[in-house]
Amino acid sequence: MEEDGFVLIFRSECPENVPQDVSEEYLSEIDKSIESLWASLWSLNKFIHENPELAFEEHKAHELLTNFMRSQKDWKVTTSAYAMETAWVAVYDSGKEGPAVSFNVEMDALPDLGHACGHNLIATASLAAGLATAEMIRRHELPGKVLLFGTPGEEGGGGGKIRLLEAGAYEGVDISLISHPGISHNSPLVRTTAFARLEIEYFGRAAHAANSPWLGINALDALVIAYNAVAVLRQQTMPSDVIGMRITNGGAAPNIIHAYAAGVCVIRAISASRLKELQQKVSACFRAGAEATGARAEVKIIQGYADHVPNHILAASYTKYWNLLPDLPDPLIPCGDQFTWVNASTDQGNISYAMPSVNASFAIPPGLHAGQPHSPDFEEASGTQGAFMRALRVGKALAGTAVDVLRSPGLIDKIKDQWKRDMDAIKKQTISTVESKGIDDDDID
Ligand SMILES: [Zn+2]
Ligand SMILES: [Zn+2]
Repeated sequence: MEEDGFVLIFRSECPENVPQDVSEEYLSEIDKSIESLWASLWSLNKFIHENPELAFEEHKAHELLTNFMRSQKDWKVTTSAYAMETAWVAVYDSGKEGPAVSFNVEMDALPDLGHACGHNLIATASLAAGLATAEMIRRHELPGKVLLFGTPGEEGGGGGKIRLLEAGAYEGVDISLISHPGISHNSPLVRTTAFARLEIEYFGRAAHAANSPWLGINALDALVIAYNAVAVLRQQTMPSDVIGMRITNGGAAPNIIHAYAAGVCVIRAISASRLKELQQKVSACFRAGAEATGARAEVKIIQGYADHVPNHILAASYTKYWNLLPDLPDPLIPCGDQFTWVNASTDQGNISYAMPSVNASFAIPPGLHAGQPHSPDFEEASGTQGAFMRALRVGKALAGTAVDVLRSPGLIDKIKDQWKRDMDAIKKQTISTVESKGIDDDDID
């Protein structure tokens, strides 16, 4: 996941029905349980960081992590799950009916940049959280079960979690928890953008540009018209919309009328429904090129990731544990229900459309040049012990969140009701970046 920046949005309503009681016993047991795993988690974290593997090629990480989970008491492990070589599932079941809480374990790195997105830290936080949750089930005879999903291929639009969703891996799972490192903020209320890729091809008719141009149909002209129409469209888009376009085939030779031209457009929006609107507007620009020139247009739409919709009851639980753990790091988690908007996309977004989700951002000590994710500087920062210790703190807060769900009868129903309301609101487009800015006529000149 890439982090280009963020905007804070204030929403007035406060989360209800969150157990405000925090059993000191649970908190200190989670803390101690994760600290007791320090040495083994550090060596796993270090190995993954030092052996970066690309999307769907996480063979070493898959072997290392599934072997480790097999060595843990009473966990059932499935390797190469759901027809994906590097996907895996580990389950700890109390045997008593109750909620199924889950954590996603990302493992993939970036081409030429290694673990510059810090997925080694995501794996560490989720493993720590899963193991501590199982330990709490064991000690306190809690109901329900905990699942760890080894989710391959998040980078490059691979969508490993989408494949797992479609294969039915999350059937019967009630909540999904994950985290992502950065250097800017600590927040469990992270919203990311939805994106799609549109590939446009124009088919015209070749002709000699000097001899008989009137016989030709210029595919490149069609593409140039589309490119300019998209550029003009940008003036009327929402501040949160992003459209990027490039020409991938600009014709054959300057002395001919071009029979073929092609381009690619990537669009991002605040929600899946806004993305659909934007897609229609861009498609209209493509049609304009075809209409003006007579070339035939073919558009291939590759759906990317949905926006991430965080569950604020789960997020309140996370915040509670984060704030109670000793040595509170900067920056503080924003008060109340402020969203942290990240101009990036993740397949955890698709998970959040299927069940209540938290994708907690956490700040690690920055590198020498304060590089953001996907920079060599961040790759270095994500391998340090300081970063690892932040991931352990995240693991403790995520475990606390899961344990709240398991130990509080009825809480899961309230979390699901909230999720349904959030989904309805998203469909109705009631969440917007504009609504909080308080623009009135005096501000416009
Ligand atoms: Zn990334
Ligand atoms: Zn990432």
